[in-house]
Amino acid sequence: RVKEKWAATRAKYPPTTLALRHFDSTYSTQLGKLWPSIRVALLSERKYGALLNNFSFDDIPEDYEAQGCRDFIRDTDTEAQPRLQQESEFVAERESDCVSVQNADADSLQLPPLQLSRNVKCLVFPRGDITRFKPAKPDKSGLLSYYLMDAASVLPCLALNVEDGHNVLDLCAAPGGKTLALLQTHSLGFLCVNDASVSRTMRLKRVLRSYIPKDLLTDEKLRITSFDGTMWGEVETNVFNRVLVDVPCTTDRHSLLEDDNNIFNKSRVGERRRLPQLQTELLLAGILAACPGGEILYSTCTLCRSQNHSVVEQAIQLAQENHGIQLQVVDLRPLTHMFRKTFHFAPDLPLGEMVVPHLAANFGPIYMCKLRRLT
Ligand code: SAM
Repeated sequence: RVKEKWAATRAKYPPTTLALRHFDSTYSTQLGKLWPSIRVALLSERKYGALLNNFSFDDIPEDYEAQGCRDFIRDTDTEAQPRLQQESEFVAERESDCVSVQNADADSLQLPPLQLSRNVKCLVFPRGDITRFKPAKPDKSGLLSYYLMDAASVLPCLALNVEDGHNVLDLCAAPGGKTLALLQTHSLGFLCVNDASVSRTMRLKRVLRSYIPKDLLTDEKLRITSFDGTMWGEVETNVFNRVLVDVPCTTDRHSLLEDDNNIFNKSRVGERRRLPQLQTELLLAGILAACPGGEILYSTCTLCRSQNHSVVEQAIQLAQENHGIQLQVVDLRPLTHMFRKTFHFAPDLPLGEMVVPHLAANFGPIYMCKLRRLT
């Protein structure tokens, strides 16, 4: 009897199957011959990075180094610096990244090459090695020494290029991996952390308490809110030097591997279809929240074009038409060049950069696009 009831109410195809079908049809067109390899990687065990907590007293367990683990940021940084200047010059010859976007002008190309915070450190195992990190243990003051996350998720935080004293907004912050990476820079003047979900904001607060000393979590340094980020521009505009807009998306890896909380569940079709609209509104709110000269980093963990560069194009257009705000797309190729040995990047995207999963370096997907407010 029970079985019959199940048969009547259980979905014919689980959300993971629906996700795979959807990705097969859209990504085979969008990614062409790259898709079969990315597909295999997406369906295989992912790789993690260990974001080191430089507020913790504990050192990295020595056995990680003995196993060939390395900080991917420090390892590539020095080697790539001289090349970055050349890359910037090369940028001047590149076509516009987006039709409706002002080109990077000659003056902006004289800016120093991307300066990455030396304080952010993230350990990864070598290419092809999928050894797992052990869960971090609390140090003598109760703080955990590292946070496990997709190492590619650190890239948007590095690309944001926070400088000393900056006022920073993390618009969709929970559970807080990127917030932690931003805090590791030790450069923040004031940090505003927001997430629309109250339960996820609670989780974010727990994460912050487990990694960050209490004296850095005071009202003078940090504000944590649970607002609908799309409304941010109506409350606080032209304020932040840096804004991270890490939007909700189809979370491709999760959608392929977990039936729980899966956006491909039949009951969530409407929510899924509305994602590009929500993402555009969030990015526009982030643009409005930034000050003129400020920079905005848009990121997702999907390969989907309509949630990635189409959203950026749309938000740029709306910012210009409805708010008179001119934006410039910042070329992130110096960053991708720097980390090309750790991650696989999609070639020739029309706008932004994307880490694509690969069996030997199974990170991502992470899409990111950086905008600078000119007005
Ligand atoms: N940045 C986070 C991190 O690194 O841990 C991950 C963010 S996750 C990709 C997207 C987040 O957006 C979710 O936590 C979700 O609750 C939040 N969100 C969804 N709609 C939102 C909205 N309208 N305003 C603000 N946050 C929203």
